[in-house]
This record gives sequence, structure tokens and C-alpha cells, in this order.
Amino acid sequence: MLSYNDSLSVLSPGTPVLHKYKAYGVSALRTLPQLQRLTEEQIFEMEVVAQVFPFKVNNYVVEELINWDNVPNDPMFVLTFPQRDMLKPADFDRMAAAIKRAAPRAEIQALANEIRLELNPHPAGQLEHNIPELHGEKLEGVQHKYRETILFFPSQGQTCHAYCSFCFRWPQFVGMGDLKFATREAARLVDYLRENPQITDVLITGGDPLIMKSETFGAYIRTLIEADLPHFQTIRIGSKALSYWPYRFIADDDAPELLDVFREAVEAGKHVSIMAHFNHPAELETEAVRRAVAAIRSTGAEIRSQSPILRHINDTASAWADMWREQVRMGIIPYYMFVVRDTGAQHYFGVPLARAWRIYTKALRKVSGLARTARGPSMSATPGKIHVLGVTEVAGEKVFALQFLQGRDPDWCNRPFFAKYDEEAVWIDDLKPAFGEESFFFEE
Ligand SMILES: *Cc1c(COP(=O)(O)O)cnc(C)c1O
Ligand code: SF4
Repeated sequence: MLSYNDSLSVLSPGTPVLHKYKAYGVSALRTLPQLQRLTEEQIFEMEVVAQVFPFKVNNYVVEELINWDNVPNDPMFVLTFPQRDMLKPADFDRMAAAIKRAAPRAEIQALANEIRLELNPHPAGQLEHNIPELHGEKLEGVQHKYRETILFFPSQGQTCHAYCSFCFRWPQFVGMGDLKFATREAARLVDYLRENPQITDVLITGGDPLIMKSETFGAYIRTLIEADLPHFQTIRIGSKALSYWPYRFIADDDAPELLDVFREAVEAGKHVSIMAHFNHPAELETEAVRRAVAAIRSTGAEIRSQSPILRHINDTASAWADMWREQVRMGIIPYYMFVVRDTGAQHYFGVPLARAWRIYTKALRKVSGLARTARGPSMSATPGKIHVLGVTEVAGEKVFALQFLQGRDPDWCNRPFFAKYDEEAVWIDDLKPAFGEESFFFEE
């Protein structure tokens, strides 16, 4: 293993590093040699949970991120392999029974869907509320919730290099389109941007848009750049590739073309920001990720990082302080700490707001100002991104001080408000207004 400085000196973006992507699905639970150390019962439990939560892991995660000596408690293992307690005991038992009696596929699928529906699959009204219209027609694949920024879900980027077990998603794989399709889809986005000069940022997300071939990804970006819209400043790319497949930037056949796309956008005067998703310090330690970060930065693109705070994975101050410190050292800007949302396995991964704030605060105190740029803990809720500023006492009442980082109504931003303290609350829905008030100001 190279030290950080060694890896910088060997770094040149085009250097070939042979590493072929290999993904494993649920059948890997029976075939991966690394899993042989688990008991039959543990494997069976993972199979049961995998019926409900889609499961996919790749050779980089298995070979370079998971510390197998530490399994089953290793955070990278918990993050990517299904865990028994992700299902409520009754649901687990029902699914386990169905599998044991070899129930027909259709029955297992129906049961899986029934369990998923109990788990609030479309939180925060994202799907229904935020789809904009263009000339009276819904603009599918776009969400416009906050004035300056739209989210764009290219239809060819709706899957991931590996699935995070906290992400509640069942495969929304859309049939692979072609380049023309990508360009057409991006052209509709351009029409919408043209009519909405208040938008400065396009956040391309998924799934993971960097799952796309560089040529396809480039077709989207080039269509956006060529439109030459002066108000459109920033291209953000939400991706977990740096954590789950850093070879995307340094070893894939079309890695150099991907870096070229970033470079072109930068040269066209756009701010390009990779919104990386690092959940644990281990994801920052491999030679591959260090080289990938340096390769991206050599194009003029920036990298920002965000992650939810997750029980079993990163619910300690030292995990966050280590991540932020290491990120700053690599030239990554810490951006958000999220609270895990009210969907899927929140009961397994969720950290109460009060505890998340204490961890955030303790981590903040361990690092220098440059590493204190991650805002949080923040909830992406229906009314907006709600930031837990802290716990304090006002007129003898213990309260949470909160504020909007983003609001459905931009005037809500940066206006402190208060909720009654509740040690157990995990989400805004659990909170009551402080001082005996009936409702929060944004509910009126
Ligand atoms: C977080 C988020 C954004 C981006 O918000 P910033 O504060 O600009 O980072 C945009 N749209 C949605 C729906 C979001 O959740
Ligand atoms: S990379 Fe993102 S979208 Fe994909 S499984 Fe993980 S959290 Fe979900």
C-alpha cells in the first residue's frame, strides 16, 4: 500500500490500472469465498432480507473495502450486505417462512412488495410534488424543488455500482436507451432551463449517473454546455463511484473520456462539482480512491462530500472527524451530514436527532476550520432541508434550535425556529413546536 504522497507522485490520470468491474447479486451469498466464514444461519438471514432490499456488491468493495477479519461487524460489510435487523421481526419471520417452504417466486415477490409498501417507499413527497412542467407537460426525470437547483435523473443512470443497504430502492432499471435518446432527454432539460433563468445549478443524479458510459454521459453534458445559457453555472454530479468504484476514473476503458467531459465543462466556464458520497473513512484509504480524486481534480472539477449519519456505520465523532480531515487533505470539500430519512431501514440505521447533533458537534471540535464545512445534521423533509442547529434552553424550556438550509419557499431559509426537545426524535414528524405553539411557522 502506498502512502498518500507516494500515490500522488505516481498519479497521472491515464496510467492504466488493470481492474475489471464485477458485480455480485444475491446468488453471491452462496458463492463468494469470503462469505465462507459466516454460518449457514447468517447466510440465510441475508437471503431473506435481500428479497426486500435489493442487493448488489462489486469486487472492489469485497476485496479492498471490507475488512473480512472484522465481519460481521465491519462497517463496509454492514453497509453493503443485507442485515437481519433491517426487517422488523414479524416481516423477517414471514419472509423466512416463505423461503423455507419454497414458496413460488410470485408469492415471494408479492410479500416483498407488501413489506416495502409499509416502509414509506417515496419519502418527502419527492415523486408527486416536485416534477415540473414544460409547455403543460410533466417533465419526467426532473425535480424542481428549490428555486436555484434542479435535480436531473438521466434515464440511463438509474442504477448503482453497488447498492447501499440503507438506500431504499428497488430496481428502477429503465431499458438502456441510445445516445440519441440521451441527447433528446437533455434537450428537453435545456428547454426548461431556458425558460427558468432563476436556475443556476443542475444536479445530475440517479441511481448513479457515472454508471453510464462516458460517451452517453458526455452527450448529456455537452447538450447542456452547448445550449450556452449564461444563468446556468454549475453542474453537480451526485455519485458514489469514488467510494464503490474509483476505477471508473482511472482504469475503465473510457475513464480518460470521462475526465475529458469534466475538463470540457470546466473549460466552457461551468463549475463542475462531483457530489461524492463517502460513508466511512475506509472508503478514503485505498490507493485507487486517492488516485481517482487526484485525477478528477486535475480536470479542474471540484469534489464535495456528503453522507447520512448511520448507526452501525459512522455514528461516532471520530469517524466523522477522520473523514473530514482526510477529505480536506485530499482536496475534497465536506458539504453535508444528512439524517437518514424516514424510509426503508430507518429503524436500523437511524440515529436520533439529539445524538446526531452531539456527534456532529464533537467531530467539529476535533478538526480545523477548513474541515468544518459540512452542514448538518440536516433532514431532507417535505418542506425543505432542515438543519438541527443545536440543543439549548429558552425561558426554562429545553428545545431544539432548527433552521431551513433550503425551503420549498426560499423565504424560509436561515430563520431559526424551535421544537420541544425530544431525546428519541429521529425526524421532523416526531417534533412538536416549542413554547406551547400549535404549529411550526411553515405549516401555516
Ligand atoms: C439538497 C437538494 C438540492 C440541493 O440543495 P443545495 O442546498 O443547493 O445543496 C436540490 N434539490 C433537492 C430536491 C435537494 O434535496
Ligand atoms: S449509491 Fe446512492 S442511490 Fe445508489 S444505492 Fe447507494 S444511496 Fe442508493
